[in-house]
Amino acid sequence: MKKVPLLTLEEVEATCSGWSQKLQLQEARIIGGEPLLHPNITEILDIFGEYWKPPTQILILTNGLLLETMSETFFEQLEKWNVILRITIQHNRFREQIMNSCHRLREGSFHFLDHDVSGSWRKLYQLEEGTPKLFVSDSKKAHEACSFKHICRAIINNELYQCTIFAYMRKCYDYGIINDDRLLIHKPATLDMSPDELQQWLDADYSESCCVCPETCFPVDINEKKFHR
Ligand code: SF4
Repeated sequence: MKKVPLLTLEEVEATCSGWSQKLQLQEARIIGGEPLLHPNITEILDIFGEYWKPPTQILILTNGLLLETMSETFFEQLEKWNVILRITIQHNRFREQIMNSCHRLREGSFHFLDHDVSGSWRKLYQLEEGTPKLFVSDSKKAHEACSFKHICRAIINNELYQCTIFAYMRKCYDYGIINDDRLLIHKPATLDMSPDELQQWLDADYSESCCVCPETCFPVDINEKKFHR
């Protein structure tokens, strides 16, 4: 299995500068793995802030466990760019620990969302020796049942995927974690597409690659509590 390299600041800059000229986003999310593990997360926030201006809302998806170790500069960057922390806390297990660990959370000095992920799509995939077990579905039915289509596109390695699952699974394929050629069906959008080609790609009704998802309805049961400063 290949080691997955960390994104460099040059790659983040290339992605943000390229795609911010092509797309208008409601939200630009920094996701992981766990984004707070990246040694340059503060600089990454700065790059996002420079390229994704309001009304785009910048958001970090984190499990919150490293918040107590983050520098003051990190919290200042959150405030400077009005970033929302979305803390994904599973089954209340770590809620109290996280809240107690970070005085900035308790003081409410920045926006954060306490986001219970129980019922989200990740739970649909059973793991086989640590690897997600893909479904064998009718792609059209799977897409019809999907609650995530058109709401969470993902950019990885400067390529835009129709949904986060495509992006993650495809990278798992590239790094030898999942060996299923169906993950090659989806063709991501690239920066060299013309505006018409990109629009056509964005408007695509469904992808044959949805056959890796279940045909039954995705339970989007996201219990999100909002806290604002
Ligand atoms: S692969 Fe298709 S069905 Fe699965 S989450 Fe993405 S859009 Fe939905």
